[in-house]
Amino acid sequence: MTRDKTEVFVYGAGVSGLIAAYYLNKKKLKVSIVDPFNEPVLQTHIKKEGLIEWAANSLLMNLESKELLDNIGLEYINYSEAGKKKFFYRSGELCRWPLNFIESLQLIPFFFKILFFKKYLKPKQNVTLKNWSLKHLPEAFYERVFKRGLQGVYGPNIDKLSSNLVLKPFLDQRKSKSLGSVSFKSGMQELPKKLKDYLTKNGVIFLKQEPVGKKAIRVVSTPAHSLPSCVDNKAKEILEKVMYHNISIVTFFVNEDSKMPFSGFGAVFEDEPGVLGLILNSELFENRASEGLSSETWIVDGTILKDESNAIDSIQALRHKMIGKESDVTAHYYKNWERAFPVYDIKLENALKELEVSKDLFYFANWTGSLGIGKLIAKGKSFSEEVCRSNNISVNE
Ligand SMILES: Cc1cc2nc3c(=O)[nH]c(=O)nc-3n(C[C@H](O)[C@H](O)[C@H](O)COP(=O)(O)OP(=O)(O)OC[C@H]3O[C@@H](n4cnc5c(N)ncnc54)[C@H](O)[C@@H]3O)c2cc1C
Repeated sequence: MTRDKTEVFVYGAGVSGLIAAYYLNKKKLKVSIVDPFNEPVLQTHIKKEGLIEWAANSLLMNLESKELLDNIGLEYINYSEAGKKKFFYRSGELCRWPLNFIESLQLIPFFFKILFFKKYLKPKQNVTLKNWSLKHLPEAFYERVFKRGLQGVYGPNIDKLSSNLVLKPFLDQRKSKSLGSVSFKSGMQELPKKLKDYLTKNGVIFLKQEPVGKKAIRVVSTPAHSLPSCVDNKAKEILEKVMYHNISIVTFFVNEDSKMPFSGFGAVFEDEPGVLGLILNSELFENRASEGLSSETWIVDGTILKDESNAIDSIQALRHKMIGKESDVTAHYYKNWERAFPVYDIKLENALKELEVSKDLFYFANWTGSLGIGKLIAKGKSFSEEVCRSNNISVNE
C-alpha cells in the first residue's frame, strides 16, 4: 500500500486518539479523527479560586514525551522540589516510610533478586498482583507501601489487579526512562489543545462522523464501554468484560491557615474508608490557587463515598484529624466519574489476549496496556510502526 493513499480513521479525540493520530501523521498517512461526543476525561477548569483538574494532574515524563512536547511547541513545568516527598497516612499518623526497622530489613532478599535474578520476578499470566507480591515481598511492605502507592494511580481493589499488566512495564529492561512529573502553565488541558492545533496544521481532519463506504485503516481509541460500529460483535463481547472504576475527584481551596501541616506531593491513605489519595496542588506548581488560598485534590472511591455530601463530609472529618482543627474552606468542587479509568485486572489481561487485531483494525487506548499519559506517548511510535508494517508500508518517515 502506498503511504499517500492510505487513509486512517482514529476513533476518539481524547489523549489516546490524539497521540495515535500524532504518530500516524508523522508516518505521513492521511489521518482523520472521528469523535461524535467530544467527552474526554482530561479536563481543566478555571474557577475564581484557582485551577482544577478533573482527571490527570500531571504527566510522568520520559524521552518520548519530551520529544513530543518540544515538537508541538508546548512548554512544561516541572514539580517543585517539594513534589519529591510523598507521605503515608496510617492510624492517624503521617509518615514518609510506614515500616519499622525489622520490616524494612525483610526487603533485602527482594532487592537482591532485582539486582541478580530479575527474571524470577517476571510476572506470570493470570497471577494477581497480591499473589505475586506475597511470593516476592514481605506482607507488610505490600499492605502498607506498595498497595497504598498504587491505589493513587490504579484506583481501589489493588489485590485484584493483574501482576502482568501492572508490573511488566516496570520490570522491562527496555522501559522508557522517567524524567519526573510535569504539567503546564494553564493545566493539563493544554496538552490536548496544543496537540489538536498541531494536528490540524499538519493536515489531520476532525470529524463528528466517518464518511460512508471508505476503505481505510481504523484505530479505536475510545473507552472500552463506548466502541464505534467498526468493532465487530465478537470484539464487543470481549471488551464488555473490561471493568471501570468509579472515582470522584474533590478539589478544596482552603485559607492559608488551614493548609495541610506538611509540604510535599501529597499522601496516600490506609484505614480511611473510601479515601485513596491527596495531591497538594499548590505545593507542586505555582499559580494553582488565587492569593491567600491553597489548593488540594482528594481522590476518593465513588462506590464507597457515593455522593458529593458523603465525600465532602469524610474529607472534612479527615482534615480535622490531620490539621487538628475545623478547616476554613473557601470552596470545594466535586466531580464523579462513574467510569473513570479501566481496572487493570485479570479480566482485562484476558480480554487483551483474546482481542484480535487485523491489518485494518487496531486498538490504542488507556485500556490497551498503558493507563498514564506518559506511557501512552512512549508506546505511540511503536504503535504507528506496527500499523505501517501490517499494511506493508515502510516504517521510515
Ligand atoms: C481521576 C483521574 C485521574 C488521573 N490521573 C492521571 C495522572 O495523574 N497522570 C496520568 O498520566 N494519567 C492520569 N489519569 C489517566 C488519564 O487521564 C487517562 O488515561 C487519559 O486521559 C484517557 O484518555 P483516553 O483518550 O484514553 O480516553 P478519554 O479521555 O475517555 O477519551 C475518549 C474519547 O472517545 C470519545 N468517544 C467515546 N465513544 C466514542 C465512539 N463510539 N466513537 C468515537 N469517539 C468516541 C469520547 O468522546 C472521548 O473524547 C487519570 C484519570 C482519571 C479519570
